[in-house]
Amino acid sequence: MTARLIDGRSLAARVRDEVATQVASMAEPPGLATLLVGDDPASEIYVRNKRRLCTEVGMRDLHRHLPADVTQAELASTIAGLNADPAVTGILLQLPLPSHLRPADLLELIDPDKDVDGLTEASAGRLALGKPGLRPCTPSGVVHILDRAGVELKGRHAVVVGRSNLVGKPQAQLLLERDATVSVCHRHTADLAAITRTADVLVVAAGVPHLVGADAVKPGATVVDVGIHRTEAGLCGDVDTAAVAEVAAAVTPVPGGVGPMTIAMLLWNTVAAARLQRVGGTATV
Ligand code: ADP
Repeated sequence: MTARLIDGRSLAARVRDEVATQVASMAEPPGLATLLVGDDPASEIYVRNKRRLCTEVGMRDLHRHLPADVTQAELASTIAGLNADPAVTGILLQLPLPSHLRPADLLELIDPDKDVDGLTEASAGRLALGKPGLRPCTPSGVVHILDRAGVELKGRHAVVVGRSNLVGKPQAQLLLERDATVSVCHRHTADLAAITRTADVLVVAAGVPHLVGADAVKPGATVVDVGIHRTEAGLCGDVDTAAVAEVAAAVTPVPGGVGPMTIAMLLWNTVAAARLQRVGGTATV
């Protein structure tokens, strides 16, 4: 079997088009505040990319750049100002922060209705309880990919490899919300391949290059690769894509799979945040 390669770039472009259509129908365009601290070149590139896409879909780019020596208190007061500003729909604190700052404490200051990265305790709690709220971008992007690629989730066995707060844990909850039967594997799982071989849908977010090979995949499965690693041979994921493509029905490539959808979800969440704020936190987003 040679698997279908799921084109994350074109699926993400469709999501951005849908976001642009929604933005065009709104009385006021949503505003996305990206907060960048210091001059880390990789973070600057990520933020520039997010700002460009934000403008392309017709949203307001409300970027703030703070110096590397900003204090915890100054950053906290900047976040408080953004929380209070009605022009600001979404707030994104670009990580990592300089080492003298405490990122977890700062993230918690973001109003959960403006938490477009879905990383605050309140957002995690809303997801765990099945309440309306903003979901983390990477795992919700994975669900969008599966939906848009026509992959059925209800009643199927979904296996998530990885249990991080950023990806694995919310991924499992989002798949449960979609009526999949969900197993979660991690670094202490005995015989990982025996479990992943039972997956109809396999999502790999372990941060280990080529962790999943053909022997770990059920024939006909759908495999989503969240990992991204820079090697001498170029970029690769947590899945040995070429080998797995001989067994699976569909697989996401790296690059060009989950990555573009993650950024599209940030824009999607900003529109969702606008809706959430309009109805005082009771909307289904
Ligand atoms: P990410 O941000 O991509 O989720 P983390 O490094 O925060 O990455 O988390 C990695 C997750 O992958 C952890 O939950 C860990 O238990 C899991 N993991 C790491 N190595 C393996 C492995 N060899 N087999 C199964 N799970 C693994």
